[in-house]
Amino acid sequence: MRIEYGELILEAGERTIRPDIFAKMEGDAIPHLLARQCEDCGDISFPPFRYCLKCTGGKKTVEKVLSNEGVLASYTIARQVMPGFNPDYILANVRLKDDPSLVLVAQLTDVKLEDVEIDMELTMVPKIIKTLMNGEKVVSYCFRPKDPAKVTLGEGGQTE
Ligand SMILES: [Zn+2]
Repeated sequence: MRIEYGELILEAGERTIRPDIFAKMEGDAIPHLLARQCEDCGDISFPPFRYCLKCTGGKKTVEKVLSNEGVLASYTIARQVMPGFNPDYILANVRLKDDPSLVLVAQLTDVKLEDVEIDMELTMVPKIIKTLMNGEKVVSYCFRPKDPAKVTLGEGGQTE
């Protein structure tokens, strides 16, 4: 996996955890998460749903590029993990700035455990989170500190 001019480029044997969740955004070096937003009530869904889950009557949603910014709502250390994951990663609930009712479960990465604080500002970064039994690598959305002084590459979660 590599990122070129804000675009996520997969190598052979890699895939994203869901199709079409990363989008290039002009002017940003990191890809953005692609959600969907209800045309009627404005509710944002991620993972993206084609129809609004809050409105009745099957209101359609449209693509919405997220800001990639959030705050740490809570976290735990995953010491016993599913096959394919590296143990002892930090699993977080991240409250997104675009919609505070939207909380993503994701790994924290590039951060030392002693620097992790509730309500710290985070930014999304795509990373390889696990290797499947067939050897395929899975790229997903992780979050790391927005404050560059708290970013420690390779700490806290997956390193690829
Ligand atoms: Zn709606």
